[in-house]
Amino acid sequence: SLNGKTAVITGSNSGIGLGVARELAKAGANVVLNSFTDRDEDHALAAEIATEFGVEARYIKADMSKGDECRALIEKAGVCDILVNNAGIQNVDPIDTFPTEKWDAIIAINMNSAFHTTAAALPLMRAAGWGRVVNIASAHGLTASPFKSAYVAAKHGVVGMTKVVALETAEEPITANAVCPGYVLTPLVEAQIPDTMKEYDMDRETVVRDVLLARQPSKEFATVEQLGGTCIFLCSDAAAQITGTTISVDGGWTAL
Ligand code: NAD
Repeated sequence: SLNGKTAVITGSNSGIGLGVARELAKAGANVVLNSFTDRDEDHALAAEIATEFGVEARYIKADMSKGDECRALIEKAGVCDILVNNAGIQNVDPIDTFPTEKWDAIIAINMNSAFHTTAAALPLMRAAGWGRVVNIASAHGLTASPFKSAYVAAKHGVVGMTKVVALETAEEPITANAVCPGYVLTPLVEAQIPDTMKEYDMDRETVVRDVLLARQPSKEFATVEQLGGTCIFLCSDAAAQITGTTISVDGGWTAL
């Protein structure tokens, strides 16, 4: 069990981050939720987790596109035994018309934020004598698709940085790994289905199978609960010698 451990999950008021936070809380961890907004419903998510699982849960606003706010998130958390770098955005355009501000935002949120949070969290992990860094990368951290230049660059960068963090902590009771999901049916992906149905004149089932899951051999989405379970495994004693590597949760995508 993760009783007594505190997990900070960036970008966790929705989708994978929220799912991972819920699974970690279910396993007994105290959790710190985060996003760049500061709405009542953000804080309500933390209150629900606290009530449902009997752990401490807080929501801390911090914009992961800004290095100083990434570091402030960890400082405000005060304790960070488990750091899950999950915040991420996407933009799809050919490279010659890819908007520069989108490139900069994706590199900042999807990659640079993990540098800043990790830099701030490692001293806390060392003081606690235990730590886990789990970076939510992507199948696009290991392979590429057209029109996703910034995302693919950022996710490959995260996979590379994960290896360096693992080497710098190799002789300590700290591990660093990247989880590489294929398609996960988060609200973000769900929202693309109606438009794609219209665009291709397909029913929902065909869009899911032949468009969204075209490269996912299992023809099934990974779930946020499965990603939470993967994080819990990486936090377990069984995974103490697993460091500096990637775990794909992609229905066979990267085997193709
Ligand atoms: P999502 O949009 O549901 O969640 C993204 C989270 O990041 C949200 O909580 C959002 O508020 C937060 N966020 C965005 N910008 C932020 C900022 N500036 N500061 C702080 N938080 C910010 O999407 P998701 O599908 O849950 O994606 C989560 C992570 O998983 C991302 O890194 C994404 O690249 C990765 N991923 C997703 C899939 C998928 O199929 N859904 C596949 C592979 C990898």
